[in-house]
Amino acid sequence: MDIKEFESEAAKVISWMSSYFENIENFPVKSPVKPGEIKAKIPTSPPQQPEKLDGIMKDVDNQILPGITHWQSPNFFAYFPGNKSKPSVLAEMITAAIGAQCMSWITSPAATELEESMMEWLREMIGLPEDFTGVIQDTASTATLCAILTAREKASNFKINEEGFYGQKKLIVYSSEQVHSSIDKAVRIAGIGSKNLRKIAVDDKFAMIPSALEEAILKDIENGHQPLCIVSAFGTTSSTAIDPIEEISNIAQKYQIWHHVDAAYAGTALICPEYRTLIKGVEMADSFVFNPHKWMFTNFDCTAYFVKDTNALINTFSMTPEYLRTREDTVVNNYRDWGIQLGRRFRALKLWFVIRNFGVQGIQQKLRGHMEMATWLKQQIEASEDFSLLAPVPLNLVCFHYHPEKPLSKETLNKLNEKLMQTLNDSGKLFMSHTKLNGYFTLRMVIGNTDVDERHVREAWDLIQKTARTLSA
Ligand SMILES: *Cc1c(COP(=O)(O)O)cnc(C)c1O
Repeated sequence: MDIKEFESEAAKVISWMSSYFENIENFPVKSPVKPGEIKAKIPTSPPQQPEKLDGIMKDVDNQILPGITHWQSPNFFAYFPGNKSKPSVLAEMITAAIGAQCMSWITSPAATELEESMMEWLREMIGLPEDFTGVIQDTASTATLCAILTAREKASNFKINEEGFYGQKKLIVYSSEQVHSSIDKAVRIAGIGSKNLRKIAVDDKFAMIPSALEEAILKDIENGHQPLCIVSAFGTTSSTAIDPIEEISNIAQKYQIWHHVDAAYAGTALICPEYRTLIKGVEMADSFVFNPHKWMFTNFDCTAYFVKDTNALINTFSMTPEYLRTREDTVVNNYRDWGIQLGRRFRALKLWFVIRNFGVQGIQQKLRGHMEMATWLKQQIEASEDFSLLAPVPLNLVCFHYHPEKPLSKETLNKLNEKLMQTLNDSGKLFMSHTKLNGYFTLRMVIGNTDVDERHVREAWDLIQKTARTLSA
């Protein structure tokens, strides 16, 4: 492809993007294809001769789009959002054009230094104290693994990296029963073992009970084990429950245990200062993670990991073989030493575009709009006779179920709600996901898409009610 062709094809691609954004509500939100349907359309062998972009783009429309679940549709209420925004998309295009691999300062000083600045901006935006230092990771899963590995190395005086686990006490990690699966995965990968992850009981708001945590720690100490790390949740995945961060921080300090705060989704809420009372005590934590790639309008992937003891982090991960040694090593950050991967994408650019183009106030306005819409939906459910909430709504996730007047067993009720969700999702008009709370099949609706507005929420609520009542009739 020569530069002339690139320019004319790029113009067409951009016009394709604009029309996709404009028409996104016309697509079924959840892809309706059956397993294997898309693969069956792709030739089994690659083309030997060059193909023109026109033909490839036609196949994007015909072969790929039918198999896309439209995360950017304002009728996408499932999981947690993975928001794009227009400035973020433009930044990703520039990042791709530059094509830099940003493992070391020297491999693109601007990438490293913009990352430093963006992490300082983000830290200020969410109100974290200045003794936290940030680094971008690919996902919260990776950041949490980094936290547990760093805690492990610090606690073992960096011995486990050198010698393996020989002669070490059993290390124990604590979280609540509502923990995200990435923590289960991290303890496996870190060599701690799933059996040494204690899942502490939660209260009626699905938040960790601090006294139960302390009890578990004491029991482990009594048994000769070494409490290593507590992972608390600021916004669980099931219901955005908020663990009592301050009480957990106090316990962590008392027993000198690493305290990692998993705020993967809800951390973004802290950009609005009125939510910061919920995170009191975070100043005592050791590390904190949140995902601008979920709710902060920044394309996947972009995770902000903040840590106090950067030396421990770097001592855990740094490796400098001869071929990576540079003159500036003592005065710059080489972010390859701040995590697992060597090669790194230039992710700070999209943060820079998003934060500047929205402005902090623009982001706050969006977030507050989401909270208001969620509150509206919550009130509708509270006022309704045959729907009820299954968890508090501290932010913008509403957990509820349908229960018709007649008395039904839990099992029948759960089957009915599962059928309701599947019918709604198969309609293509909206997409939501579920969880289980207290044994109930729970519909989860997150009002957090970049472009969602009141009309979408109102229409979704109408459709949910209508569909539920036809199902049960
Ligand atoms: C989404 C989520 C994660 C995992 O995030 P990834 O970036 O996809 O790894 C971890 N913890 C919580 C609470 C989450 O909501």
